Amino acid sequence: MADQLVWFKRDLRVADHAPLNAAIAAGPVRPVYVIEPELWAQPDSAQRHWAFIKDCLVELQVALSELGLELLVLNGSLPAVFAELHAKVPFAAIHSHQETGNAWSYARDRAVADWCRTAQVHWHQTPNFGVVRGLRKRTGWVKQWEARMTQPIADPLAKPAQAAVALPGAEWPETLGQGQLACPGRQAGGRQAAEQLLDSFLATRGQHYRQGMSSPGSAATVCSRLSPHMAYGTLSLREVVQRHRQRWAAVRAEAPGSAWSKSLKSFESRLHWHCHFIQKLEMDPSIEWRNRNPGDNDLRDEQNLDQARYTAWATGQTGIPFVDACMRQLIHDGWINFRMRAMLVAFSSYHLWLHWREPALHLARCFTDYEPGIHYCQIQMQAGTTGVHALRIYNPVKQSRDQDPDGEYIRRWVPQLSAVPTEWIHAPWHLTGQLQQRYGVKLGTDYPWPIVDHEKAAREAKARILARRKPVEPDQQTLDF
Ligand SMILES: Cc1cc2nc3c(=O)[nH]c(=O)nc-3n(C[C@H](O)[C@H](O)[C@H](O)COP(=O)(O)OP(=O)(O)OC[C@H]3O[C@@H](n4cnc5c(N)ncnc54)[C@H](O)[C@@H]3O)c2cc1C
Repeated sequence: MADQLVWFKRDLRVADHAPLNAAIAAGPVRPVYVIEPELWAQPDSAQRHWAFIKDCLVELQVALSELGLELLVLNGSLPAVFAELHAKVPFAAIHSHQETGNAWSYARDRAVADWCRTAQVHWHQTPNFGVVRGLRKRTGWVKQWEARMTQPIADPLAKPAQAAVALPGAEWPETLGQGQLACPGRQAGGRQAAEQLLDSFLATRGQHYRQGMSSPGSAATVCSRLSPHMAYGTLSLREVVQRHRQRWAAVRAEAPGSAWSKSLKSFESRLHWHCHFIQKLEMDPSIEWRNRNPGDNDLRDEQNLDQARYTAWATGQTGIPFVDACMRQLIHDGWINFRMRAMLVAFSSYHLWLHWREPALHLARCFTDYEPGIHYCQIQMQAGTTGVHALRIYNPVKQSRDQDPDGEYIRRWVPQLSAVPTEWIHAPWHLTGQLQQRYGVKLGTDYPWPIVDHEKAAREAKARILARRKPVEPDQQTLDF
């Protein structure tokens, strides 16, 4: 029987991996991961993504070796790498999951498909998640999602045959990607870490998910933290949905209407949103680079970015403590909760009046869990360029007082303000020179003055937008845009 290549992309696991099982059923298997230099040259790639992937590849190697298979890691452009491999050790088919990535990965997949046609290699692509390829309308999508999520979990088939000729793999580079920002708080990759997170979330951490998800102080513990594992596929979404539903059913039976039950209900919605947004990008890839609402095209200047404002925002130096604390945590940990992601985008889009494109790339490089479909849809929603959502102009001082009432989060991430009492910490620009001296901070030297008057900037942004279009009423808002 002819060799079968399994191309691991953003699905770094052996459990519930239909392409691996299809390959095992068809013939001797050669599992491959390709380190693609062009991918790592893209402006949305980052060192922290590669570091996470390396963790995953180490465990994937072990999991495959337990099946008697050896992971071949290659380095080079696609489809050239496949062509070279095929010349040395012909294979009849490539098995992979479908990928809904960015414009670059779409173009790469088309080039691979062209090569496959020429080389007469069959490329079998299996759906990943609940995203449906080739869909024109969303009617019936929820049913299809449900049908996929309730399919049985497929364990790897027993006794696979390894492709006969062993080949040497490439060196794994120490670093790859843009944005060489250190990320000491990065989450560990790999299946074990993912399973531990799912177990602890469903056993204890998730109980106060609903109440605790909005504050950056509590969110890191009460949120599942599964996002980078979903992005790189150490767990399948189906596995998460099924484990979660078992637990939710038990909680509902024991304590209906409890905090636990409400939290797991909220979690269920997020698991739908995951695919809902990726499906949007699958159906309209231009969401990555074009305003969804063309009426907003000349609203903000994409070509001439205000570098001073952008740099202050991207490095956590805006002089608005809560905004800076969030950006600094994100840079350090590679993760921050949903509401603070939304606030960071809203602040850059409304208060600083920056076009969303460069901030979106910066955040993509900061998020270990960067998932293009979710990312660009959320960016456009929070930047107000979809045309169908009410403006969400967060007041960063109100958010600060609501989400960090005692200022502890700010003190942790903006240590320059560590001695400033709570009454001043949310808006330290009100401190007199004498008070600054008393609390050990000199504004403009130790910590910046605010780069904008946030209230005035928010009023101006609102007026600029509403001068061009009618406000969207809250009840007209829709997830679908
Ligand atoms: C501007 C912006 C950019 C974002 N970019 C990304 C991104 O690149 N990758 C990413 O995974 N999430 C992104 N999100 C969504 C969300 O913030 C993260 O999924 C979540 O914070 C991840 O933490 P968690 O795994 O603990 O989530 P939990 O709250 O525990 O949720 C569980 C899972 O549900 C999904 N999910 C949760 N919230 C959302 C949401 N609002 N939309 C879609 N799916 C959701 C994720 O897969 C997540 O892992 C973005 C949000 C905003 C506002």
